[in-house]
Amino acid sequence: MIKTKKEGFLIVVSGPTSVGKDTICNEVVKDNLDMWISISMTTRSIREHECEGINYYYVSEDEFKEKIKNDEFLEYAVVHSTDYYGTPKKQIYDKLNAGMDVILVIDIQGALKIKKVYDNALFIFILPPSIKELTKRLIARNGGETHEQIMNRFKSLYKEINYIPDYNYVIVNDDLETAVNKMKSIIVAEKCRVDRIDELVLDTKEEELHEMFMDEKKD
Ligand code: 5GP
Repeated sequence: MIKTKKEGFLIVVSGPTSVGKDTICNEVVKDNLDMWISISMTTRSIREHECEGINYYYVSEDEFKEKIKNDEFLEYAVVHSTDYYGTPKKQIYDKLNAGMDVILVIDIQGALKIKKVYDNALFIFILPPSIKELTKRLIARNGGETHEQIMNRFKSLYKEINYIPDYNYVIVNDDLETAVNKMKSIIVAEKCRVDRIDELVLDTKEEELHEMFMDEKKD
């Protein structure tokens, strides 16, 4: 009876480093063939346990700037005042046109740019249970970053919190399973929104009922 839009939709996820955005998103797309997490391009160096083409595409600053010139990014930003990060445009359009929902795990500057071009995207912000917990996770996760780099990430966090009202939903990641369930529920609810539905199609039998009902209303 209901036809949903054939094109997938964009889900933009932001939140401080080490808050668990990637873990939550990976769990959400697990076993879901209709959902895909975008792979960004960055000029930052590869960390231990990361892989080219899985976590990011790692390029030099010159290569990145060349791609900016060629309009290859849906959005890009300098994050934590140091490195370029960007969402390659083509892969996103290919997946959306194939009917897949695409998750972008990007910073606030990028999210605000997406908001301008895709006003029907869904914006989710992930928060840590507390700053103390985030500090613990950030230090434990440290992939060879300097003290200055870690401090930059904290500075970003305080700036980022001011932008939460630009997002549609906030999820506090105090328990992974709960956070994953919340994100899945948000996505399901979004898909049921009237403005995401293409049209209502009545089959013949339903049309008859509809006419009967309309006749009754006339009487
Ligand atoms: P990390 O270096 O810890 O992997 O990521 C640092 C920050 O860059 C995170 O907040 C992450 O969401 C953001 N980021 C990753 N990819 C992109 C992207 O393509 N565009 C933007 N604007 N931010 C990104």
